[in-house]
Amino acid sequence: MIVGLIEGTHKYTWNQALKAAEARGHCLSLPYGLIKVASQQRIYTEPSMSQIFADCPRRAVLGYLIDHFVSPEACYFMNFGTLVHNALAQVDFNTWITLREQKLCHRLPSGLYVSGTPDLYEYKTAAVTDYKTTRTSNKTWPRAEHVGQINGYAWLYTQEGLPVRRLVIFYLTFFNFVPYLIAKWSEEKILAELNRRAPVIAAAYKDFVVPPQCPPGHCNTCQVREFCQINCPEGRFQLAEKWVSPMVKERASG
Ligand code: SF4
Repeated sequence: MIVGLIEGTHKYTWNQALKAAEARGHCLSLPYGLIKVASQQRIYTEPSMSQIFADCPRRAVLGYLIDHFVSPEACYFMNFGTLVHNALAQVDFNTWITLREQKLCHRLPSGLYVSGTPDLYEYKTAAVTDYKTTRTSNKTWPRAEHVGQINGYAWLYTQEGLPVRRLVIFYLTFFNFVPYLIAKWSEEKILAELNRRAPVIAAAYKDFVVPPQCPPGHCNTCQVREFCQINCPEGRFQLAEKWVSPMVKERASG
């Protein structure tokens, strides 16, 4: 879990950062409001589609299991995503009837629960929309993990009894937005992917076993790199209990 801000030798828990910002108007260049937004993270109790289809499952797991700090820059960008999503969630879609930012949770045939919070579902068109904020345009759009994630959302909606006819991902940079129509996977394909991936995340949350790392190329900006046993690239490893967040331990034992 992200527990605060770090810059050089300066480290602030969220509470300390908020107190500092109250006194001075900012902490490590971030104003009170942005620190408050960042400190209110969404906490999942079961594997979510974003974790299940993460480009590096090891990063998704370590980011959840270990209390760690983020740089003001990373925090600012996290907030950019949150603010854009919050703004879009307020849009008046006129006569369309929509579901927005609603958490869905369903059980796989194996008995494991998986969840997700899609950005938008439109009843009129049976379309699922997901917004992705990103710093710059990228030739790898639409990214494989986002294609999996939105297909996971489609599966969750069908479990709710809602039809899904169209999947759209919008990539939003600081300068533009780019929409992509995404091919819908068959039920067999999505279930095969969920059955293969979700237990890895669930086991990590329960027993603190860290999954294999991702292919090279994602590590430079990784916030949990110091905890990733890079020289254990192939297999899983057991995370020492001393590194596991007290809140995660409490949840795992309950
Ligand atoms: S350092 Fe690389 S392999 Fe390790 S968790 Fe981060 S992104 Fe994944």
